[in-house]
Amino acid sequence: MAEKEKRIPEFMQPMQGAAWFKPEQCKDCIFRDRTSVKLDGEVKHVGAGKSVCDIYEYPDMKPMGVMNNTETCKFYDKE
Ligand code: SF4
Repeated sequence: MAEKEKRIPEFMQPMQGAAWFKPEQCKDCIFRDRTSVKLDGEVKHVGAGKSVCDIYEYPDMKPMGVMNNTETCKFYDKE
């Protein structure tokens, strides 16, 4: 990193990317959140990636193992 970049405050640093959770098993589970967005004319189903679903409702959240695909959800039910 250049000396000049080191001196700028953290919040002004260029973004290095973010870790987004993509819980794979939630994509076709009947309990998934069904939120979708339209982006550039294309419909994207984003609800399955949320940390809540019909089983884990706010303030409860999906287990971290489900969110990072290291654990099988005991409530998973294929649509
Ligand atoms: S019940 Fe389990 S597999 Fe289904 S959406 Fe919720 S966390 Fe995902």
